[in-house]
Amino acid sequence: MSTGKIGVATGNLFPIIKKFLYSDHEIFLRELVSNAVDASRKLQVLASSGDFKGEAGGLKVRVKADKAAGTLTISDNGIGMTAEEVDKYINQIAFSGAEEFLAKYKDNGAAIIGHFGLGFYSAFMVSDKVEILTKSYKEGAKAVRWTCEGNPEYTMEETEKAERGTDIILHLNEEEKEFLEDTKINELLSKYCKFLPVPVVFGKKKEWKDGEYKETDEDNVINDLDPAWTRKPSDLKEEDYLKFYHELYPMAPDPLFHIHLNVDYPFTLTGILYFPKIENKFEIQKNKIQLYCNQVFVTDSVEGIVPEYLTLLHGVIDSPDIPLNVSRSYLQSDRNVKKISNHITKKVADSLTDIFKTQREEYEKKWDDLKIFIQYGMLTDEKFAERANSIFLLKNTEGKYFTYEEYQNLIKAEQTDKDKKLVFLYATDVHEQYTYIEAAKSRGYDVLLMDGQLDTHFINHLEQKTPDHRFVRVDSDVIDKLIPKSETKDVAWSHEEQENLRAVFSSQLPKEGGMYMVSFEALGENAEPVVVTRSEFMRRMKDMAALSPGMSFYGSMGDQVTLVVNTEHRLVKGILEDEKREMDAKIEPINAEVKEVEKKKAEIDELNKDKKFDEIPQVDKDRKADYDKQLDELRKRKESLLDEYGKGNKIVGQLIDLALLANGLLKGAALDKFVKRSVELIK
Ligand code: ADP
Repeated sequence: MSTGKIGVATGNLFPIIKKFLYSDHEIFLRELVSNAVDASRKLQVLASSGDFKGEAGGLKVRVKADKAAGTLTISDNGIGMTAEEVDKYINQIAFSGAEEFLAKYKDNGAAIIGHFGLGFYSAFMVSDKVEILTKSYKEGAKAVRWTCEGNPEYTMEETEKAERGTDIILHLNEEEKEFLEDTKINELLSKYCKFLPVPVVFGKKKEWKDGEYKETDEDNVINDLDPAWTRKPSDLKEEDYLKFYHELYPMAPDPLFHIHLNVDYPFTLTGILYFPKIENKFEIQKNKIQLYCNQVFVTDSVEGIVPEYLTLLHGVIDSPDIPLNVSRSYLQSDRNVKKISNHITKKVADSLTDIFKTQREEYEKKWDDLKIFIQYGMLTDEKFAERANSIFLLKNTEGKYFTYEEYQNLIKAEQTDKDKKLVFLYATDVHEQYTYIEAAKSRGYDVLLMDGQLDTHFINHLEQKTPDHRFVRVDSDVIDKLIPKSETKDVAWSHEEQENLRAVFSSQLPKEGGMYMVSFEALGENAEPVVVTRSEFMRRMKDMAALSPGMSFYGSMGDQVTLVVNTEHRLVKGILEDEKREMDAKIEPINAEVKEVEKKKAEIDELNKDKKFDEIPQVDKDRKADYDKQLDELRKRKESLLDEYGKGNKIVGQLIDLALLANGLLKGAALDKFVKRSVELIK
């Protein structure tokens, strides 16, 4: 038996392990199982090269918990170690610049473990004492027992061991006894070891028998030895990809598409990415991609390794070329990582292009689900936007799909306005905007359906890329002005007539649910008498605000709704005539008074026209202020007369309500009032 001091250049290693690696202590199991797997694979290599002549079959890694003894044992029948090797690989942990490195990465346990090759020593995060019982594959090798109690002293002695290989026996410390529980061990094995290439056995398989689960004699292998991503794409069928997907995400619905990554030069990268089907649009989950290094699970946080929008995808990426022991910010500047990220972007775009070209029908069927990924990619990644430009689709209100180019050709003839801009009409809700969609269609226009979460942003993106393209929602203006083809007709009414009728119509506008305004247009005698429109600009600002914090100013505003009154419609003309007949006699005296006051005001102005403000006598200033007050009162009087008149005008109420109704804006008490009034008018 020999004793010795573990050779760490900077002194005691154990406090470092305990202090810095505390947060991540469950990874000890990953480290020990992957060491055991490595030892097994090394033996396979030696066997296949003929350097090992014995029986290499039946390689297995076993994990055993002994609650009574408080031990967890990880055993393998791999290459094992001679006494010299234990001394070399376990005792001599020499490293340089440790202090400096530790200071830099003190919050990153994984980095420390990887950097120092301290995989084995992570056992001390959870153990008071660790034993290694090992026997090398080499002929005549003696078995060795190494023991260490979490301090720099160890003992090493020759011992007996029947089988080749290594047992690592952890005497767990009091606080870590949870690692003896089956459920905990199962959880960790399935998190970190599920796809290791050598069978990992934990307990026996259980079978449902006589109303309970009973252990069988068969070893319970917890891992899938050759997961789909490690196999050649040509060896895999569609159902293999599906099966693997459900191994990763048992509860998820079938994915839309998969992409098999398989590169060996200039970097090694394998993996399968899936476009998931998102059932609940408000629950888009990022970071479902799992990152592996030679089939050992490392993390499910792939930020910095794949472009941001691809973190929406599911699947597995496996690459030994991704430096795992560095900070995230360093990752992004790493050349290999950049190459890998670019490769993934290109591969995703290429695969989609391929599917689009060869299976357009299938692609269209899945487009509604695929759309969010592609739009997100195009909005956030210039390179992807270029590549995806020919494969994103636009869907119209009839459910037909077009590429951007196809759609431009479709609408060019009818939807180019007088300034040579191509106008894309869209709806966000086919039921609510039905009347407007129909009006547009009857003009020979086509209407897109833009009801996705990112559509508002996407429309902005397209308009920015192509300033000659303009997107307007079907209800953002009267049909003549949606795609103006020539200068529109002027309204024939006088200013006074417009102002009076504005007051009449305003009297019956809804008082809540938005900002309502009245405007007058000559839309032709066959157009509707009153139409409701919503400003494209304001609405888009509001939509964007809903998605982006910092724009809450727009978000808090109500809808801006304009009531467009058609001055050429028979009923509207009738309203004007009625108003004149009823009101002229009442308004005339007020107008006369207004004229009188304005005249007096003008006289004062005339008197003082060459004076600077300071030189005008105070009496004149006071008199002017008094006239202004009088004018204001007269105006109010007039407005209140018109308001009162307007309120009693059933036709005005009816026309406004009909317009609101066509736009889905008439609800509750207002709707009830409309129905009652309609019945009354029929009588
Ligand atoms: P790393 O695995 O990163 O080299 P470790 O501290 O985990 O660092 O292991 C150090 C070395 O000890 C390994 O490289 C290997 O040579 C040896 N070793 C560890 N575990 C085993 C094992 N189960 N069987 C054989 N050799 C082992």
